[in-house]
Amino acid sequence: AQTPVKVTVTGAAGQIGYALLFRIASGQLLGADVPVKLSLLEIPQAVKAAEGTAMELDDCAFPLLSGIEITDDPNVAFDGANVALLVGAMPRKAGMERGDLLEANGGIFGPQGKAINDHAADDIRVLVVGNPANTNALIAQQHAPDVPAERFTAMTRLDHNRAISQLAAKLQVPVTEIKKMTIWGNHSATQYPDLFHAEVGGKIAAELVDDAWLRDTFIPTVAKRGAAIIEARGASSAASAANAAIDHVFDWVNGTEWTSAAIPSDGSYGVPEGLISSFPVASRNGRWEIIQGLEIDAFSRERIDASVRELEEEREAVRSLGLI
Ligand code: NDP
Repeated sequence: AQTPVKVTVTGAAGQIGYALLFRIASGQLLGADVPVKLSLLEIPQAVKAAEGTAMELDDCAFPLLSGIEITDDPNVAFDGANVALLVGAMPRKAGMERGDLLEANGGIFGPQGKAINDHAADDIRVLVVGNPANTNALIAQQHAPDVPAERFTAMTRLDHNRAISQLAAKLQVPVTEIKKMTIWGNHSATQYPDLFHAEVGGKIAAELVDDAWLRDTFIPTVAKRGAAIIEARGASSAASAANAAIDHVFDWVNGTEWTSAAIPSDGSYGVPEGLISSFPVASRNGRWEIIQGLEIDAFSRERIDASVRELEEEREAVRSLGLI
């Protein structure tokens, strides 16, 4: 029988964790024929809740789930891990300064990066979901010098999926008609969903919608969708976030021709090297590749630059706090 793939989920007792773990255990993360072993990392006061979730996982009798481990020790959680989904993070609370938020997350993602460095399997792949995701990924990466830098990624797939859904609704086409969607930059309000390379039935999406809709409706709707869902549901968009995490890892491992992911920049498209920024990417042989050669017009350039500037500021802030 195949050796199970070890998947570590942090913040496992949270809302996203609850939406994520069952899908991992059912085979949707890696493929319907890949056995998995789950490792749930939580802070001590949430370990009991994680144990409750594990009881439910047991009760599903998932054929692919070969074991569950629950711990509050990152060195245990990441030991031999092949995939790490870093979901647990310090949420921004009212009145919290940005420096405090970054500092609190530095205290989480620094040690987790080190534990990954020291204990994870050689093929470890890391996806950061917990916000500020791009910069949390950078912090973890900088504490893992022995792991190839490209293995640290952050999630913009939910933004990508939201952009597809908004465009499909506007044009009244099935989502499957929409190709080559791209989210650029930071997973934040400055992100730039790009319709100048997206295609609908082979035509450029930006040419099928009017400029005002693109600028004043589409871009802000995608960027503010999380807040709209909190407003409607009274709770955050945990299930769609979990779904996007599944999509990201599945495509990373199994390959795709085009999606969006925040990965370390190699300097492409003027994004300073090393920043973990969202790009149009393909995945081949288990590696992300930035799709090259796209023409970027002035409208897009301005928006990509603004989001990348924010990432640079976050990197400066965590540097000056000594977190990287
Ligand atoms: P969620 O599971 O709802 O969210 C977890 C993180 O995902 C947050 O940083 C959140 O950011 C982020 N996120 C990214 N995209 C989305 C999205 N579309 N919708 C919602 N969230 C998104 O949080 P809970 O509070 O329910 O659970 C967090 C768990 O993490 C708790 O059980 C806590 O104990 C644990 N934790 C574990 C740590 C560890 O293992 N060492 C460290 C810290 C916390 P945002 O805040 O911006 O919404």
